Amino acid sequence: MPYAITQLCCTDASCVTACPVNCIHPTPDEPDFGTTDMLYVDPRTCIDCGACAEVCPVDAVFPAETLTGALADYPAINAEHFAGTEPAAPPEGSPLFHAWGPVRFDRVLPADFPTLDVAVVGSGPAGMYTVQDLLLHTTAKVTLYDRLPVAGGLVRFGVAPDHADTKRIGESFARYHDHHRLRLRLGVEVGSGVTVDELARRHDAVVYAVGAPTARTLGVPGEDLAGHLASTTVVGWYNGHPEIDADAVPVDTVDPARAVVVGTGNVALDIARILAADPARLDGAFAPAVLQRLRASRVREVVLLARRGPEHAAYTRGELLALLRRDDLDVVVDDHDPRVGETIDAAAPGEHAALLQGVPRVRVDDVPAAGERRRVVLRFHAPPEALVGEDRVTAIRVGGPDGPGELATGLVVRAIGHRGRPLAGLPFDEETGTVPNHAGRVDGRPGTYVVGWIKRGPGGGIGTNRRDAAETVAALIEDGKQHLVGAKPRRRGFLRRA
Ligand SMILES: Cc1cc2nc3c(=O)[nH]c(=O)nc-3n(C[C@H](O)[C@H](O)[C@H](O)COP(=O)(O)OP(=O)(O)OC[C@H]3O[C@@H](n4cnc5c(N)ncnc54)[C@H](O)[C@@H]3O)c2cc1C
Ligand code: SF4
Ligand code: SF4
Repeated sequence: MPYAITQLCCTDASCVTACPVNCIHPTPDEPDFGTTDMLYVDPRTCIDCGACAEVCPVDAVFPAETLTGALADYPAINAEHFAGTEPAAPPEGSPLFHAWGPVRFDRVLPADFPTLDVAVVGSGPAGMYTVQDLLLHTTAKVTLYDRLPVAGGLVRFGVAPDHADTKRIGESFARYHDHHRLRLRLGVEVGSGVTVDELARRHDAVVYAVGAPTARTLGVPGEDLAGHLASTTVVGWYNGHPEIDADAVPVDTVDPARAVVVGTGNVALDIARILAADPARLDGAFAPAVLQRLRASRVREVVLLARRGPEHAAYTRGELLALLRRDDLDVVVDDHDPRVGETIDAAAPGEHAALLQGVPRVRVDDVPAAGERRRVVLRFHAPPEALVGEDRVTAIRVGGPDGPGELATGLVVRAIGHRGRPLAGLPFDEETGTVPNHAGRVDGRPGTYVVGWIKRGPGGGIGTNRRDAAETVAALIEDGKQHLVGAKPRRRGFLRRA
């Protein structure tokens, strides 16, 4: 009975090193690791030892035969990844083998490498993987700052509450909060409570892991109308973010009973799924005030608007499959534009648009459907052109094959991606919304480093930040070796002056 990896995989690769027979791919050393949505178990060589399931921080690996319901497709999805490849053959006569590579030590510190005093700003995944690497592989003392009174970044205030297994990774990060070499300073905003220069004076090195907290704007008329919200507001609201009011998302008064979400990424799908969910399926994972409003929600239909066609939809296969398997709501594709159906029908197996083969196609009316069941509509080739209304949104104007049309709606959410925010004292690239850096070293500021979304832009799941943190910590250690080892007496803030 081989194991299989499922939708919740966040690609942190913990299972890769745990697997005794090297049957989980792509590994971090393989070229497609940087672009894959998830990792896969090769069922031909898996020896069913369960080591991967033990180390997985989000409970994404299971014995294949136990997978049912929404996860039933995953044994085949894992096997499909290896189609056309040769299984790595075990040595003759042995059921166990391991393709041992050369011995590698990722962190080698000289014996006289000193105890560094490092500040990490931001307690989301990127900050926590950095903390973990520093605490496990160096003798550094670390001070972890976050502007919020609760640690966790987007694991706490971004990942959807109904993805409880993914949120569990927060528990493995939280283990380090009590580490004897870590000081936790919550509720301290760097840039206002304490400046970048002050922080640089207090510590040998500072690593910024401040994320990309701003929602991109649509750039169309009517954006400031009431009833138009950013994804960050809606996501923060259903996660109980301390700065977002429980009344921020008026689902209980939406009129007409349709919400429009602009975007087709995983965040857009999260929002659509939660807004369209049968209230009976929502549970205590949501804050009581939010749950009360969701249970009183008037939303019956959520339309997801995509600028381009189904071949370019930004959702991952796992997130879409999870939505399609829901039994409390229908998912349909709007066929206003004949190109949509043609693209889906012509897609070869494995192509992105083929994921929608078999999904019903309907022509969605300008006013929401009055059916019994809630539904999510995917509408492609429908760029938003304007939000319409006097003081509140009453409709959204979208482009289409016959010219613009209007969809009546009482709530529009834009979920078209995030953007980094400048932090006073650090350089900022307006075009990419990131802090200019080389392998994590901030340009022009020795001793200052970045990691996560503020370093590489807002893309990639939780696990992506692990490798990213390893790169930044490697740069920091390298700088320490260059400027400190052998230097006597030790100079505090040496990296800054290097
Ligand atoms: C809505 C949403 C849902 C997601 N769901 C998933 C999922 O299910 N699975 C998955 O694998 N990935 C998911 N992701 C992606 C994942 O959350 C990101 O890869 C990850 O959070 C990026 O980490 P980060 O540490 O760079 O940023 P963040 O997680 O945003 O952390 C930044 C931290 O810095 C703090 N901070 C910011 N400015 C300052 C300051 N000036 N001073 C002090 N502290 C500051 C913030 O309070 C925050 O705690 C999701 C992303 C979003 C937006
Ligand atoms: S069950 Fe064992 S052999 Fe199979 S993928 Fe997991 S760790 Fe590897
Ligand atoms: S989340 Fe990490 S440990 Fe779990 S299956 Fe994915 S890569 Fe492996």
